[in-house]
Amino acid sequence: MSKYCIGVDLGGTNIKFALFDKGMQSAGALEAPTPGAQGPDGVIAAIVAGCDRLIRQEKLAKSDIVGVGIGSPGPLDIANGIVLDMPNIGGFKNVHLRDRVGAGLGLPAALDNDANVAGYGEYLCGGGKGARVMVFLTLGTGIGSGIVIDGHVFRGAHGIGAELGHMIVEPGGELCGCGQQGCMEHYSSAHYLAQYARRAVEESNRKGLLKGVLEKAGKITARDVAEARAQGDELACVVWDRAIHYLAVGCVNIARIFDPERIVLGGGMAKAGKDLIEPVRQEFQRLHWNLTDPRTELFLATLGNDAGVVGAAGVAWDELGPK
Ligand SMILES: [Zn+2]
Repeated sequence: MSKYCIGVDLGGTNIKFALFDKGMQSAGALEAPTPGAQGPDGVIAAIVAGCDRLIRQEKLAKSDIVGVGIGSPGPLDIANGIVLDMPNIGGFKNVHLRDRVGAGLGLPAALDNDANVAGYGEYLCGGGKGARVMVFLTLGTGIGSGIVIDGHVFRGAHGIGAELGHMIVEPGGELCGCGQQGCMEHYSSAHYLAQYARRAVEESNRKGLLKGVLEKAGKITARDVAEARAQGDELACVVWDRAIHYLAVGCVNIARIFDPERIVLGGGMAKAGKDLIEPVRQEFQRLHWNLTDPRTELFLATLGNDAGVVGAAGVAWDELGPK
């Protein structure tokens, strides 16, 4: 009889649950709304209930389940399974999420942050599959990242080791909410790219597609910039290429530190597909040192919103499964 781990991806709106065997074959999934207004007690009860429902739905018993992996927004104290804070859901201050879910289910549990588990999902089943060393960047509101080395998530000495969005790519540059200046996410995340596009349109007297978008919709998104760029809009090219440049700077630094086989790019910006990956590959080649040929390859993520639930189950197998 096969054994399974449950992956749980805790988001601000929904909680995803999925069962995976050791070979990471999916054996069922479900989704439930996050009862954010009910605070930690309600959210923990919803996680426990969702896991129980999934086990019943697939006609399994508790004894078929090795453990539960939870991917959660943070900051977290990963070693102790604690959510230190959660910007999207109120009341999560120093909540022992791992142990409370584990106790509620009567099963071992593991906790990791949402970007680490998404990276692990892409490593196991997505754009990083087959790589021994892989770095994942998710380009959304900010830039989240996950680092996988020799099959394990790398977390650093204090559990905060994979915060590549806060790698400084422009010393003395834009002030980041983290207190540093010139963090990569301030240049290359979907959110900050859109913010910069708006600034650039407002400061420019030129007519262009983005000016039209701003006048009509009252805002500019990263997707608007990508689409205007594809149509040759001059300002959109400048804005997009600036984000690409700093992303490539970050990728060269990642290559120098980790020498990964793959850097995988996901999140909202990755929906631009070849309009993202092709220029960033070119800029990466241009900025790369000449001591060796570039061997790190850049790829798009392939799992989309499923990366978290896949990786959460993977982390459970890695931490709780037979060694
Ligand atoms: Zn920062």
